[in-house]
Amino acid sequence: MTNSPSKLLDNAVYEFSKLPGIGKRTALRLVLHLLRKTEEDVTIFGQSVIDLRKNIKRCKICNNISDTDICNICSTPSRDPSTVCVVENITEVIAVENTAQFHGLYHVLGGLISPMDGIGPADLDFDGLIRRVAEGEIKEIILALSATPEGDTTNFYIYRKLGNLPVIITTLARGVAIGDELEYADQITLGRSITNRIKFEAT
Ligand SMILES: [Zn+2]
Repeated sequence: MTNSPSKLLDNAVYEFSKLPGIGKRTALRLVLHLLRKTEEDVTIFGQSVIDLRKNIKRCKICNNISDTDICNICSTPSRDPSTVCVVENITEVIAVENTAQFHGLYHVLGGLISPMDGIGPADLDFDGLIRRVAEGEIKEIILALSATPEGDTTNFYIYRKLGNLPVIITTLARGVAIGDELEYADQITLGRSITNRIKFEAT
C-alpha cells in the first residue's frame, strides 16, 4: 500500500490478499475488522488456522480430509462399502453428501489429470483406488468427476486401469447439467444424477 502508516498492517493485508477471491481492498477490510477484535479472539482465529494446517490428516482409506486416520464416512458402519464414488476433492465429497442420496464410500483423487497444468497420474491417488478395488469388496465405482476435458481424461484413465477388475463402472446421469464444477451443481440435480447413474462408456 502506498502511504501506509504501518508495515505490520501491510504484511497482514498482503497475506490476506493471497487468498482466492480476496483483493487488496477486501484484505484491508478484513484486517481492520480483526484489529477491532480482542487479542484473545484474534489468537483463537490464528491458532485455528495453524492447528488445521498442522494436524489435518488424509483418511488412509479414501484420502478424504480427516481429523483421524480413518475419516468419519469410512468409519460409519451403516455406509455401503461395495459402492465407491470417485471425486476430485473434498468439496465434491461435501456436495454429494449434501444430496443425502449416496450411502456408499468415496475415493478422493486430489485433482484431475491435466497435462496443461503438469498434473499427471502419478500426482493423484489412483494407486489407492486400484488397491481398494483389487481387494474385492467394491462392486461399483461411480465416476463423479467434472464434465471438463480433464474430467474426461481422468475418467478414461480410471476406466482403463480398472478394466480388468470385476467392478461395474458408472457415471452420473447424462443430460443433467453438472456444469464444469461439480461442487456448484444444485443438490436436487446432483442427487438425481447420482440416483439415475448410468454405465460408463469409454468413447
Ligand atoms: Zn475415508
